Amino acid sequence: EATPTAAAPRLTVIGTGYLGATHAVCMAALGYEVLGVDVDPGKIERLNSGEVPFYEPGLPELLAKAMDSGRLRFSTSLAEAADFGDVHFLCVGTPQQRGSNAADLSFVHAATDELARHLRRRALVVGKSTVPVGTAAALADRVRSLAPAGEEVELAWNPEFLREGFAVEDTLHPDRLVFGVTSAWAEERLRAAFAPVIGEGTPVVTTDLATAELVKTAANSFLATKISYINAMAEVCEATGADVQKLAEALAYDDRIGGRFLRPGLGFGGGCLPKDIRAFIHRAEELRVGQAVAFLREVDEINKRRRARTVSLIRELAGGDPAGIRVAALGASFKPDSDDIRDAPALDVAATLHAAGARVRVFDPVAMDNARRACPQLDYAADALDAAAGADVVVLLTEWTEFREIDPAAMGAVVAHRRIVDGRHALDPAQWRAAGWTYRALGRP
Ligand code: NAD
Repeated sequence: EATPTAAAPRLTVIGTGYLGATHAVCMAALGYEVLGVDVDPGKIERLNSGEVPFYEPGLPELLAKAMDSGRLRFSTSLAEAADFGDVHFLCVGTPQQRGSNAADLSFVHAATDELARHLRRRALVVGKSTVPVGTAAALADRVRSLAPAGEEVELAWNPEFLREGFAVEDTLHPDRLVFGVTSAWAEERLRAAFAPVIGEGTPVVTTDLATAELVKTAANSFLATKISYINAMAEVCEATGADVQKLAEALAYDDRIGGRFLRPGLGFGGGCLPKDIRAFIHRAEELRVGQAVAFLREVDEINKRRRARTVSLIRELAGGDPAGIRVAALGASFKPDSDDIRDAPALDVAATLHAAGARVRVFDPVAMDNARRACPQLDYAADALDAAAGADVVVLLTEWTEFREIDPAAMGAVVAHRRIVDGRHALDPAQWRAAGWTYRALGRP
C-alpha cells in the first residue's frame, strides 16, 4: 500500500459527524497528519478520548489506532485548523430547510467564512458536503475575498459517496474519486491528499466544480429512483395479486437492470436520499430546468406512500381501528448497521401509529438513544421479544440481521396475536406461516 510522502499535505476535517469523523480517522490511518474540527464541544471531547459518537462498524478500532499513532487530534478551533492545515475538508451538514425543499447551507457558510478569515497562507479548501450545484463557485469567491491570503486560497469540490454501515471500507477503497477543480495546483494538492487511495488503482474523475457537485446529486437521484421504481411495481402488484418479490428477482437477472437497490419494501430514508432529491428539485426549479427532474417528485411521493401503506397493512391486520392496539416495532434506524434515525421510515411508521392511538413498543439494536431523543412519546423495549410481549401486530421496519434470525415459534409464544407485517421482505413467509403466523408484506399476496 502506498503511503503519503514527506511532502504530504497536512489535513483538517471540518465537521466531524458521520462523514467527517470517518474521513478524519481514515486519512490518519492512511498516514496523514489530521486535525478534526467541530462546533460541538461534546463531540470533540468524545473523539479526543477515543470514542466514536455514533455507530459505525470498524471505526472505533481505527480511531483508537489513529489516536495512538499521534497523527490525529480534534479541536473546536477553526483558527487552529487554518494554522495547521494545507488541505481543509468541509464535511458539515446540509439538512433540508424547514418548510422548503431547499438545502440549508447555513452550516457550510458559517464554517467556510470562519475558516477563511484565519487563512494566512496558501491552502486548498475542499468541499465534501452534498450541496446544490452552483454552491462551490460562490464559495470559492467568498473564501478568496475573506481570506487574508486572498488569491493564495483555492476551493475544490470532492463529493463523498460513502455508505453508513460501510463507511470505513468506502473511504479507504472508494469506487471512484471525483475532483472538481479550477486549477492544476488544486488537482495536484488533491492527488497528494489521496495518494495512497489513488495508488491502489482507484479511478479519478477530474472535472469542473459544477459537474463535481452534480455527480453526487445525480447518483443519489438515480438510487432513489431505482428504489421507488420497484416500489411503484409493488403498488401495481398489490392491485393485481402479483408478487413484487418474485418480480424483482426475475428483473435482477437482466444485468442491464441489476438487482442492487431493486429491493421492494418500506423505502428509503436517512440523512441523504430524501433531502438530496428535494434539494435537487428545488435547485433545478431555480435554474428553470424543473421539468428535467420533475420525476423526482414522483419518486418522493412513491416513497412516502410505502410508509402510509405499511401503516394501513397494520391497521387491516388489527381489524381496522388502530386505537388501543399493541404494536411491536422492530427497528428504528433508517437502515441496518447504522444508528442514524434522520428521516427513518421505521420511526415515521411507529410515530404515525402512535398518533393514531396504537401502543407502540420499539426495539432497535443500536439506535435506541437516538430514537428516544427523537420520539420520546414511544415505548422502548429491552429486546425484540420484549417488544413483542403481548403485541397484537409485530412489524419489521429495519432489516437488522438479528431480526432476520428471529425464531417465529419463540416470538409466537409471547405475542397476543401471531400477526406480522414484514416491511423489508426480510423474513421467510413459509417459515412464519408454518409457525401459525398471519404474514403480510408490501407488494405480496
Ligand atoms: P452530521 O450531522 O452527522 O455531521 C455534521 C457535523 O458538522 C456535525 O457534527 C456538526 O456539529 C458539524 N458542524 C456544523 N456546523 C459547523 C461549523 N460551523 N464548523 C464546524 N463543524 C460544524 O452530518 P453527516 O451525515 O456527516 O453529513 C455531512 C455532509 O455530508 C452532508 O452534506 C451530507 O449530505 C453529506 N454526506 C453524508 C453521507 C452520510 O452517509 N452520512 C454520505 C455522503 C455525503
